[in-house]
Amino acid sequence: MAETTKTHSITIAQRPLQLSWAGVTDLGRRRETNQDAFLAEFPLFIVADGMGGHAGGEIASRSTVARLEAIVESGAVDREAIENALELAVADIADHPETTDEGTGTTLTGVYLDVAGDEPQWVSLNIGDSRVYLLRDDRLVQVTTDHSVVQELIAAGKLSPEEAEGHPYSNVITRAVGASELTPPDYLTIDVRPGDRFVICSDGLTKELTDYGIQHFLRENADPGDAVDAMLAAALENGGRDNVTLVIVQVSATDESSSTDGDTSE
Ligand code: CA
Repeated sequence: MAETTKTHSITIAQRPLQLSWAGVTDLGRRRETNQDAFLAEFPLFIVADGMGGHAGGEIASRSTVARLEAIVESGAVDREAIENALELAVADIADHPETTDEGTGTTLTGVYLDVAGDEPQWVSLNIGDSRVYLLRDDRLVQVTTDHSVVQELIAAGKLSPEEAEGHPYSNVITRAVGASELTPPDYLTIDVRPGDRFVICSDGLTKELTDYGIQHFLRENADPGDAVDAMLAAALENGGRDNVTLVIVQVSATDESSSTDGDTSE
């Protein structure tokens, strides 16, 4: 079960808004360890999916999340702080006695609310093949681009998205935190709009649920905690072949003049 939905009030262009979020991580049905980790603390919402033998994957994802949690506690979440935290995470992973395997590393995907400018904005970041989706105006879009061999083949026109499913290289990612060296994340800036909902997830969710399925559970569940629980249950029912982790963040208008919040707009 997800932890209870948490909230935080913000004001954008004199308009009161509420952020609410929930997250969950689960072993799944086939794996013996959970190598995923997540962080859902305003203003940073992150999923990390570790890889590597023995305890390596777990150490990589947890070290990275711990370093990011520290910058949330220090109150300075921006690009520079994130990249400094990632450098420290890479050192933690390299120094750990159990991470001798060169393939040890983690994906890192998520969003943070950048409040430094005149108007707060979302910034998405991505390394690897965990994903950020955005449901806006009832349309689901994948915000991040996977750093994976299969995605590169699709981009080069050598593989169709249909052929990609079950491809032997479907688990091979081309960027990670801690694998050999650290590449900076891809960033994308997104304006803040009431009604928006982000889904941040590891591939354990997207292996079991299609984009249509994700959209369906968002439509059916106005509360982030309920949506998280419904998607996890569906992923487990569909096989739970990998660790499943997801965080949902939504933006609601709290002034009475607006009805763009939740599922009431239709
Ligand atoms: Ca995974």
